[in-house]
Amino acid sequence: MKTLKYLFDRNREWANTIKEEDPAFFSELSKQQSPEYLWIGCSDSRVPANQIVNLPPGEVFVHRNIANVVVHTDLNCLSVIQFAVDVLKVKHIIICGHYGCGGIRAAMEDQEHGLIDNWLRHIKDVIRFNAGRFEGLDHEDKLDLLCELNVREQVTNVCNTTIVQNAWKQGRELSVHGWIYSIQNGILKDLDACITCNDEIPVR
Ligand SMILES: [Zn+2]
Repeated sequence: MKTLKYLFDRNREWANTIKEEDPAFFSELSKQQSPEYLWIGCSDSRVPANQIVNLPPGEVFVHRNIANVVVHTDLNCLSVIQFAVDVLKVKHIIICGHYGCGGIRAAMEDQEHGLIDNWLRHIKDVIRFNAGRFEGLDHEDKLDLLCELNVREQVTNVCNTTIVQNAWKQGRELSVHGWIYSIQNGILKDLDACITCNDEIPVR
């Protein structure tokens, strides 16, 4: 095997390291997954879900896309949320954005980027919804604020999905969290945007 051989070498090292610590790790994990968390984060290579919260395979169900956006017509994301909530019975959905997000930066600019501009349109909508909040800020502060506001918007979007609405109607315990990660220091921040029922969804 010549193609990307070093990645397969690294994979063997990784699997062996885990098996040295816990010989039954993979055989036990292969029987089932029962993660408590659904992570919806950015595709950015610097924001890997499991590593950031230092959890092993099996603990986090993950969906990632550019700028951690939850769109009501995105069958991919909705399918992940439905499987996580209805089948895996996760108790927490975490929307995790990050400062320095390229998707957020691109949405703030007026340059054309091709197809992705249609995706970024959803973030431009977040700018429009919060227009008054950017006044007086310099460009970098605006970007940081938009990264946070985008997380809050996506928390609301997750809460408004039929999946989460139905789970709450059934009286199930399910929390939706808004977090942001700093690629400069590796630290997560809770935006205190946690929502556990319909009454807590912010009214814009
Ligand atoms: Zn990003």
